Amino acid sequence: MANQSPFLEAQSVSKIYPGKQSAGVKTTTLSIAQGKITAIIGESGSGKSTLLKMLYGLLSPDEGEVKFKGDRVWGPEEKLIPGHDAMRMVTQDTDGLNVFAKVWDNIAVLLPNTDVAAKEENTQRVLQQLNITRIADKQVTFLSGGEKQRVAIARALVTKPEVLLLDEPFNQVDTSFREGLQQDIRQIVKETGLTVIMVSHDPAEVLSMADELIVLKDGEILEAGHPKQLYQKPQNLYTARLLTGCNILNQSEAAVCGIHSDKEHIVIYPEWVRPTTSWTRKDWMIKQVLFKGSHEGLLVEKNEVTLRLLNDQPDKYQEGDKVHIKISRYLEF
Ligand code: ADP
Ligand code: MG
Repeated sequence: MANQSPFLEAQSVSKIYPGKQSAGVKTTTLSIAQGKITAIIGESGSGKSTLLKMLYGLLSPDEGEVKFKGDRVWGPEEKLIPGHDAMRMVTQDTDGLNVFAKVWDNIAVLLPNTDVAAKEENTQRVLQQLNITRIADKQVTFLSGGEKQRVAIARALVTKPEVLLLDEPFNQVDTSFREGLQQDIRQIVKETGLTVIMVSHDPAEVLSMADELIVLKDGEILEAGHPKQLYQKPQNLYTARLLTGCNILNQSEAAVCGIHSDKEHIVIYPEWVRPTTSWTRKDWMIKQVLFKGSHEGLLVEKNEVTLRLLNDQPDKYQEGDKVHIKISRYLEF
């Protein structure tokens, strides 16, 4: 029988920080698929960075083991240079860059001088992958935050690691830059088979980038799956809250919307609510119209219950208008 070890796995790992009760990561087991993007999402303090550091070998678990291709990942106490040799990590701080040196040198410096041609070729390769060839001769100090982040990722990839770990690296980057960088990383994964594990609390980012999504709460995995599945059918209110700016109602508020439930929380995503004027009974009032470019956000109110909804027919409604609403779906928790 073939003995296929999982690519990267954590087996019942815990890391509890001394002095703090229950802070850290608690007996967590997970398996990371090769050549895919796995995203870990959770509120601040849920243990995302701690888990990532254990996977990389920057932090030793109190209990349990991390294994890469069947071999134990050694912690910082057991290894001269912390971090697994086949992995690289990028965080939001780009302090590792030499701001006085050129982009090219910041990247090439990580490769040995024994093979100058390979050094040249590999540096060229990552510059292209990260779309920064045109700034190769610029000094890092003159770069934008987004460009610096690209250089940091190029540095991480130049030695051809098998795993790239990203700990909220796009936080300081403008939204417009961010999307380009996300697309480029997806492209690199597709072309090279790189495995990416990213930590984020930005729903737009994880939903568009991840092949597999892991939801972390208080140091434990709450649920995991494909982003679409977790978005459409979250098993927990916490997950829905992380992934969308949803309406969360109690029973009596839900009753105002015509939903009768015996659960504590009734969740309605903005896109599940549609306004209409074709009904005679228009019992909701438009309180606010929020222009979002391609669509509008509307706040509607009835009997002191406010719902946020999406309207893809901009300019149709004005504040004070009366509408009827149709709710196509809701979740109960
Ligand atoms: P996240 O990345 O999801 O924000 P972290 O993994 O950084 O969460 O932290 C998880 C919990 O552990 C938090 O409550 C945090 O305050 C605590 N923590 C993190 N690092 C340390 C540390 N070095 N010493 C003590 N507590 C820590
Ligand atoms: Mg963190």
